[in-house]
Amino acid sequence: MNPVKALESHGQAVWLDFLARGFIAKGELKTLIERDGVRGVTSNPAIFEKAIGGSDEYDGSVSALLKERDRAVVDLYEALAVEDIQKAADVLRPVYDKLQGEDGYVSLEVSPYLARDTDGTIAEAERLWRAVGRDNLMIKVPATREGLPAPDIQFFMSHASYGSAHKRDLERLPGMTISLGQCRPESRGSVHVKSALPGTEPSIRPNFLATELDCRTTVAGMRIARRIADHPSLERYVAHENNPGASVQSDEDLLAYARATGHTTHHPSGTCKMGHDPKAVVDDRLRVHGIAGLRVIDASVMPLIPSGNINAPTLMVAEKGADMVKEDARRLR
Ligand SMILES: Cc1cc2nc3c(=O)[nH]c(=O)nc-3n(C[C@H](O)[C@H](O)[C@H](O)COP(=O)(O)OP(=O)(O)OC[C@H]3O[C@@H](n4cnc5c(N)ncnc54)[C@H](O)[C@@H]3O)c2cc1C
Repeated sequence: MNPVKALESHGQAVWLDFLARGFIAKGELKTLIERDGVRGVTSNPAIFEKAIGGSDEYDGSVSALLKERDRAVVDLYEALAVEDIQKAADVLRPVYDKLQGEDGYVSLEVSPYLARDTDGTIAEAERLWRAVGRDNLMIKVPATREGLPAPDIQFFMSHASYGSAHKRDLERLPGMTISLGQCRPESRGSVHVKSALPGTEPSIRPNFLATELDCRTTVAGMRIARRIADHPSLERYVAHENNPGASVQSDEDLLAYARATGHTTHHPSGTCKMGHDPKAVVDDRLRVHGIAGLRVIDASVMPLIPSGNINAPTLMVAEKGADMVKEDARRLR
């Protein structure tokens, strides 16, 4: 069987990192979709630079566009790129329809010059979206904090109210609790062994809220939690706020409350991180550095805590780890 097509049965969606006018016109993209199961196309300015500069496929369009009026290079680039993206999107449309929007996209990048400008990036993304006018367009934005206003807080809603957030003792009265976790904290703590005796508890230094960003994000999250509780649709369920309580209003007081009561929530990971630096415990085949025949295969190998919940990533580590054990065993036979 075609090995690229076979990837489908392993739940993999192959995307092509290439685009050029002749490649679409000659039906080559269509063939890759139908024969190899390609499910998407990524583009970027470098790909277009090669396609436009490295062939005469665009010469006719360039002359036609320049005959209409003088254009800056960037406008010329955009006009050519938008046309190609539209055509690729049309070729991928059957995939998009068949998979009900789960796949079948073609991507177009927002200019990296806007990487540090959140509002500019959003406006440009919306403008490009309108210019291309295809449902299966995926706009890519530069991966900077400013360029990607993605959620950085996860909220948890419990149908119980606690007397003390720290001790988690239930109140006698019914209630609800909104708690929050920062998705991408910057603060780093440590876990150290204190003795060579395996039964001795380690020394754990959480070092929460050690950076300005973590403090700001946590306070902003607490304010959003309050806005959720204050929403008119929840009004009839809310008598008053127990913790931190109405008297706690300033950023400093909210932060002090978070420092006094905050703790980890169920996602410990990274204590045996994968890598090749002095702090790494396992290599990229999950083998413990310096100890033959020993692997660690669980959440502890994650070099950084994922921004979402970690059960699915842990299962992925486990599946891959099991495959590696089998592969190595086969090699030894
Ligand atoms: C209350 C709670 C709620 C959670 N909710 C979610 C959620 O909603 N979504 C999500 O994605 N994640 C959630 N998680 C996180 C996720 O479930 C765990 O992070 C994940 O299961 C970790 O998997 P693991 O294999 O690394 O460790 P574990 O599942 O903890 O497995 C470690 C295993 O090692 C065994 N073990 C320990 N010491 C020894 C020893 N010395 N010898 C032999 N065996 C030993 C333990 O008994 C255990 O079976 C939650 C975690 C908790 C605690």
